[in-house]
Amino acid sequence: MKYYILFGPPGAGKGTQAGAMVARYNLCHLSTGELLRSEIAAGSELGLKAKSLIEAGELVPDEVVEGMIEAKFKSVKGVGGFLLDGFPRTIAQAEALDKMLAKTEESVTACISIMIPDPLIQERIAHRAQIEGRADDAKPEVVQNRIRTYHAKTEALIDFYKAAGKYQEIDGVGTIEEVQKRIFAQMDQD
Ligand code: ADP
Repeated sequence: MKYYILFGPPGAGKGTQAGAMVARYNLCHLSTGELLRSEIAAGSELGLKAKSLIEAGELVPDEVVEGMIEAKFKSVKGVGGFLLDGFPRTIAQAEALDKMLAKTEESVTACISIMIPDPLIQERIAHRAQIEGRADDAKPEVVQNRIRTYHAKTEALIDFYKAAGKYQEIDGVGTIEEVQKRIFAQMDQD
């Protein structure tokens, strides 16, 4: 099984690119943001706990997302691998992922990192707020906090995957098609 991590700051275009990636390589798309939003919509206990954190631009606890991901690894069948979107987001989550995969003698295939500069992050999220209506996109101070959280807790993963020889950076500036071509050129070699 292939285990791809789709990495990048909020608004880098992960969700946009994921659809074409899973179709081309027969992967299951696992977005922790989407999984959490559906828990919130369903009004589950987990959703209730996650809601206020997400709406403040904070991360939900590591164990919560780790549990969701491991459950999917066990239950999803008939795919060639997984595309992890929004996970891992902390070093602790990355270490937990390595441990999970080691149980079945597997490992992360590659971390595909879509990079865009901070001003473009804000522009893209402001645009998405008008289209998708996500609560955490609507308030500029929440978006700011997500960018801060990204730099403080998530960006360290770049060095983590570089050290593992698994870091593949893609320039996220350009049209959707341009970025897609760059990603495919990379994944065709993995
Ligand atoms: P974006 O890609 O725009 O940052 P996501 O949809 O991936 O948004 O995530 C939305 C929110 O869900 C995050 O700001 C965070 O509160 C929560 N979340 C998603 N994935 C994780 C994770 N791996 N660990 C902790 N919190 C997470």
